[in-house]
Amino acid sequence: MAPPCNGLEEATGNSEGDIVREAILIDGKAFAERIRQDIRDDVAALRRDYALTPGLAVILVGEDPASSIYVRNKGEQTRAAGMQSFAHHLPAETSQNDLLHLINQLNDDNRVHGILVQLPLPGHVDTQAVLAAILPEKDVDGFHVINAGQLAVGQPALTPCTPLGCLMLLHDHLGSLRGKRALVIGRSTIVGRPMAQLLLTADCTVTIAHRYSTDLPSLCSEADIVVAAVGIPELVKGAWLKPSAVVIDVGINRVPARDPELAAQGKTRIVGDVAFEEARQIAGAITPVPGGVGPMTIACLLHNTVKAAKATLSRRNTGFRAA
Ligand code: NAP
Repeated sequence: MAPPCNGLEEATGNSEGDIVREAILIDGKAFAERIRQDIRDDVAALRRDYALTPGLAVILVGEDPASSIYVRNKGEQTRAAGMQSFAHHLPAETSQNDLLHLINQLNDDNRVHGILVQLPLPGHVDTQAVLAAILPEKDVDGFHVINAGQLAVGQPALTPCTPLGCLMLLHDHLGSLRGKRALVIGRSTIVGRPMAQLLLTADCTVTIAHRYSTDLPSLCSEADIVVAAVGIPELVKGAWLKPSAVVIDVGINRVPARDPELAAQGKTRIVGDVAFEEARQIAGAITPVPGGVGPMTIACLLHNTVKAAKATLSRRNTGFRAA
């Protein structure tokens, strides 16, 4: 078990000279590096003991700059973990049939244990049909309805990477989550819903908030754990939080630079869904943005790919037992 990443608690003085205890910063970057080290060790053991090299295929359709950067990072980190990386970069006008044909080929390819289709897809492609074509046991993004359904009924599943990363950070910081009151803000299929299912499976009492929820401040004030996955810059205010709450900020929002001159030049900065400076005065622990949840996502993708590769050994009846 990795040591907790909670060595960053700070005490500072406020304008009245009182000592203000600031929240512990949950360092996702350092934790993701520890996961990647474990994965490198796991991959080395699979290669040595079973001649098995986990393989991840990533499909990118089109030239979206942000997606291209994500896909390049995924390929680099896959190779750095000692795994095989298969990159399929297709033109934006690729037909749905051609995309489905490629997925079928990857489904049949024994070297490929995980398949990821980078979203969003171009408008002429039916995203649900594409995700449904991936074999559930190779669905390392955890978006296939079979995996979503298994997660919902509390059975083992390949789980979406971002909420899985949030859960790992929470366990690392709190240990058991049993009995905690958790508020998940956002109900997307990528983050909010699977996050709520994972917290429920971890024996939390879970509330899910969305755009029609009323009195978000009061919901926040009751929560021991707040996971914000909304996409609205600094929506969650410090004063809403229960003192000592653990706050996981999934949001990635680009806003104008703080310095008006830089902002006038079009410079930007990244903030989360939580008003960080306020929240760190109240919360017990909080993930920064950037450097909190973000680095965990690709680490969990690699984790899921190794899990999918190990499952093939169990199916081959090699005597291998997945941990
Ligand atoms: P999304 O699909 O747009 O979902 C946003 C959710 O927030 C929806 O469920 C929406 O409710 C809810 N919402 C909107 N306004 C609200 C309000 N005023 N009060 C409460 N809930 C409200 O976004 P997403 O894909 O889940 O992503 C959320 C954020 O996380 C974004 O900033 C995204 O960039 C970031 N993200 C980060 C990572 C990472 O690796 N760190 C990964 C994925 C996403 P309705 O369902 O009612 O519309």
